[in-house]
Amino acid sequence: MTVNGPVSSKEMSISLIHEHILVDFIGADSVTFMRWDKSKVADRSLPFLKQIKDLGCQTFIECTPAYLGRDPLLLKSLSDSSGLNILTNTGYYGAVNNKYIPQHAFNETADQLAARWILECENGIDGTGVKPGFIKIGVENGNLTDLHKKLVVAAARTHLKTGLTIASHTGPAIPAFEQLDILKIEGVAPEAFIWVHAQSEKDLSNHVKASKMGAWIGLDGLNENNLTDYIRMIKNLRENNLLNKILLSHDAGWYHPGEENGGEYHGYTTLFKKLIPLLRKENFSEKEINQLLVFNPSEAFKIGVHRIN
Ligand SMILES: [Zn+2]
Repeated sequence: MTVNGPVSSKEMSISLIHEHILVDFIGADSVTFMRWDKSKVADRSLPFLKQIKDLGCQTFIECTPAYLGRDPLLLKSLSDSSGLNILTNTGYYGAVNNKYIPQHAFNETADQLAARWILECENGIDGTGVKPGFIKIGVENGNLTDLHKKLVVAAARTHLKTGLTIASHTGPAIPAFEQLDILKIEGVAPEAFIWVHAQSEKDLSNHVKASKMGAWIGLDGLNENNLTDYIRMIKNLRENNLLNKILLSHDAGWYHPGEENGGEYHGYTTLFKKLIPLLRKENFSEKEINQLLVFNPSEAFKIGVHRIN
């Protein structure tokens, strides 16, 4: 489900699964659309999107959640001007001490939160008609707090109702497996879950363990300085026949409201210009590279309920 409506899996083609156009770190109590000018943000972002379109990218998954600067109409206009499929999300981001959690979420039940997110999936976000293409939540590095457990339960129930995949800002293994435990109780299979920022987990046996369960492993912070780490993590999963569970991206961008011309903006080209040539050098076949960049994203973001039978 893109910001311009549904596309087939085939139309997704080469996809970047975790990037940003705009992020506003001001906090849930202060963030408003008045803090940026959509046309200025679009002018700043478009050249970076055109760059990856020219490199063969067709789908751009924008991971900025609500209360952190999610702007469906901005994304829609950039999808139109760049020719890229762009996906946005529903859900709440609990990391950073709940700075990006709206007041109502502290008191409402998991079902009430799920009802809000399901409504966005059915009717579109804030009257824009733009529908989310996945569920994005976020938790802290350590053990899950009660509030964050509630977010995971709400995400699970939203998944069962909508078939949207859950991408959770997670980091290390402890909260990853705690979330998978909650999903299990809720009857949701690990195939519905993307372990976002799995590169933060240094014990690579945990990547193997989670992907053997069925979860997606998001190696989504690629940059010029960590290419060898990425090759090592990808090879580790390949050795275990788990290439089919890897999702790659940069977590790059973005326009910073309040900064001169949006501040420093990092492009999204390292994967195309550096990682792919390096994978070829490491004897990855074109079929394997295609699996990582095309097939896995289309499977991960396919709409469908993954229930534990
Ligand atoms: Zn991100």
